[in-house]
Amino acid sequence: MLKVSKELCVGCGICEDSCPFGAIEIEDGLAVIGESCTLCGACVESCELEALSLDVQDKSVQDDFEAWKGVSVYCEFRRGVLAPVSLELLGIGRKLADKRKVALSAILIGHEIEESVADTLIGHGADTVYIADHESFAQFREDLYSNLTSKVIKEYKPEIVLAGATAIGRSFIPGVATELNAGLTADCTALEIRDEDGALLQTRPAFGGNIMATIVCEASRPQMATVRPKVMKELGFDADRTGERIYIDIPETTDGSRIQVIESVVSENANVNIQEADILISGGRGLESEKGFALIRELAETMDAKVSASRAVVDAGWIPYPHQVGQTGKTVAPKLYIACGISGAVQHVAGMQSAETIVAINRDENASIFDVADFGVVGDLFEILPKLIRKIEERR
Ligand SMILES: Cc1cc2nc3c(=O)[nH]c(=O)nc-3n(C[C@H](O)[C@H](O)[C@H](O)COP(=O)(O)OP(=O)(O)OC[C@H]3O[C@@H](n4cnc5c(N)ncnc54)[C@H](O)[C@@H]3O)c2cc1C
Repeated sequence: MLKVSKELCVGCGICEDSCPFGAIEIEDGLAVIGESCTLCGACVESCELEALSLDVQDKSVQDDFEAWKGVSVYCEFRRGVLAPVSLELLGIGRKLADKRKVALSAILIGHEIEESVADTLIGHGADTVYIADHESFAQFREDLYSNLTSKVIKEYKPEIVLAGATAIGRSFIPGVATELNAGLTADCTALEIRDEDGALLQTRPAFGGNIMATIVCEASRPQMATVRPKVMKELGFDADRTGERIYIDIPETTDGSRIQVIESVVSENANVNIQEADILISGGRGLESEKGFALIRELAETMDAKVSASRAVVDAGWIPYPHQVGQTGKTVAPKLYIACGISGAVQHVAGMQSAETIVAINRDENASIFDVADFGVVGDLFEILPKLIRKIEERR
């Protein structure tokens, strides 16, 4: 809570000017805090008279802190298919659990889930699979998924909870964090255990990708994080691994959802899955116009590749958003990424730097894309691409 000292405040208005949210007004010579205050503290720093103070909440450690043990991964399962990010999260989850010397569990929600799904999760690192199989989970409904996940977490008390930053994860995991009164770090790019106290170090880009921030949740449990697809690496499947299955009792109230699914339609763009491609040919503003993509598509066809793009060309309307690579697009990790006419802005590189081999074609020899490229071609893409296409066709 932000407090104003009537004794110290002289109504000078410096705090009013310093507030980025316009939440302070001077009334009758006294600073008055409005509802739009976000407790950012800018006004406290600006007041030389120390008339403003932030009443910081009690930071004492949660009562049952020690009772929380283990790592849990929400494993997304839709239309009979596990989202690949679930296996990637089990990969990092296994490492974190081993470092903490605790168990790794998977939370699996859906309807008519085949036995083999739990086998897959166990083979990829889970020690226990909590299975919630009920017809009310056949369609994704935020409130039901959120209630059930919160119930499982409250009952089994994992110290770390991970979920994919997919459309589904993004929509209901914040609700789970709110229900558990836990913090949530979205879109983490690295997760590690701190040696001194076993806390989870959650690293993610901040300030438009210009710095990497590491967030630690020291005083409460669980520690919750989401991770985008293709950021973490899955472990190979080990058919010899064994694990436990625990079937969750579904509360009778489960059907009390406020959401009614009338129709579920697969998006036309659903088949544009650049995250699963082995080879991506990516186009940027150097293509000059929408027509420039014809060359990119031609090269993609000759190489059985998919087409991706920088945000600049998505914003320009040359290609739809599902093709966008980067911080506000998709994170990709193909075997080969060919960047054509892309400058290599940090926000773009954040989404493609895990590619095994990066080739960059750019006419500016100082373009930042060459800093991350394994092979660079300095030149005009309108000359280079047709030659490359011809060469590949000849070899075929
Ligand atoms: C919060 C935030 C989030 C963002 N998220 C993303 C994101 O997810 N993905 C993303 O891509 N960007 C993102 N951006 C935008 C990013 O900062 C860059 O503006 C964008 O990546 C630039 O796209 P580009 O490389 O295609 O264009 P430009 O930066 O304009 O680069 C074009 C390049 O093409 C080269 N070129 C020109 N003509 C030719 C030619 N004939 N032959 C060869 N080379 C040529 C030029 O030398 C230049 O290097 C984000 C920005 C912000 C602030």
